Amino acid sequence: MDTAGSHQPSICIQISPRTLVALAGASGSGKTTFARRWFAPTEVLSSDAFRGLIADDETDQAATVDAFDTLYFIAARRLAHGKLVVVDATHTKANARARLRAFATAQRVNILLILFDLPLEDCLAGNAARPTRQVPTSIVKQQHAALRQARPGLFTEGFPAVVVLETPKAVASVEVRRLTALPAAEAVVR
Ligand code: ATP
Ligand code: MG
Repeated sequence: MDTAGSHQPSICIQISPRTLVALAGASGSGKTTFARRWFAPTEVLSSDAFRGLIADDETDQAATVDAFDTLYFIAARRLAHGKLVVVDATHTKANARARLRAFATAQRVNILLILFDLPLEDCLAGNAARPTRQVPTSIVKQQHAALRQARPGLFTEGFPAVVVLETPKAVASVEVRRLTALPAAEAVVR
């Protein structure tokens, strides 16, 4: 019997083999925090981290093209080794999402998009609370609005699997599980 305030069942995100996981959400929505919780550091390829590697500054927008080229180069090598890849970037622009899909098609992997569509206030609070890097409020608002607008069209855009996390409670209650590959022909259990 369920009573008010009792245990909430967690939402399970199942990751099948040969799946590219992509995070999307405005700055401060909690993508990197979530990625740290559920994935190994080597599995997460963050556009900010690549900007930092290339330009010594995670916010240096002039490094964006090189950062994504390097990110995708390493993503391809990891997938070739059968390793999980989680792309941590805002993905607010249609062309950024198009590149993600083109990459997945070229690598013959499926994409699972995890969209952090939290209220704007939560994104602004997360951005303001971060000690290291703060994105201007106007940019966070633009990113948030862009993803809200894009959200209904994500399926037709080419993302057949999208998990939308709408509240901090949803982010906290979600659980990530990796599925192992099914046997090719026969499974015998005794
Ligand atoms: P960006 O796109 O700018 O990298 P982000 O989506 O990766 O942003 P985070 O850096 O993960 O956002 O989160 C921003 C801040 O919000 C964190 O420093 C943390 O203080 C807070 N935060 C994020 N997720 C949570 C959470 N689940 N619970 C509490 N605080 C959180
Ligand atoms: Mg981040």
